[in-house]
Amino acid sequence: MRVGGMALYPFILLKEQRFKYDKAFINHERIHLRQQLELLILPFYLLYLLNYLFNLLRYKNHHKAYMNIAFEREAYRNEHNFNYLNTRKFCTFLSYF
Ligand SMILES: [Zn+2]
Repeated sequence: MRVGGMALYPFILLKEQRFKYDKAFINHERIHLRQQLELLILPFYLLYLLNYLFNLLRYKNHHKAYMNIAFEREAYRNEHNFNYLNTRKFCTFLSYF
């Protein structure tokens, strides 16, 4: 998820049309779709929320809590690598916790 975008398997929801042409933006959301698939969708949202709440207690700051969600760390770190999803190993998000 980035501001204006959300991955809701199997869709990527965009607040504005122009995001469609932002390759890194779309790649970021596609990385989330892969994470969601690996966690069989629903557990992803639960883990995402728990990870956020845990981070919020830890950092007491929304932005920092969000940026440190393991799923976001993987997505932000690799969103500019357009070959990432072709080479990524199964459940790589685990290494970002
Ligand atoms: Zn994201």
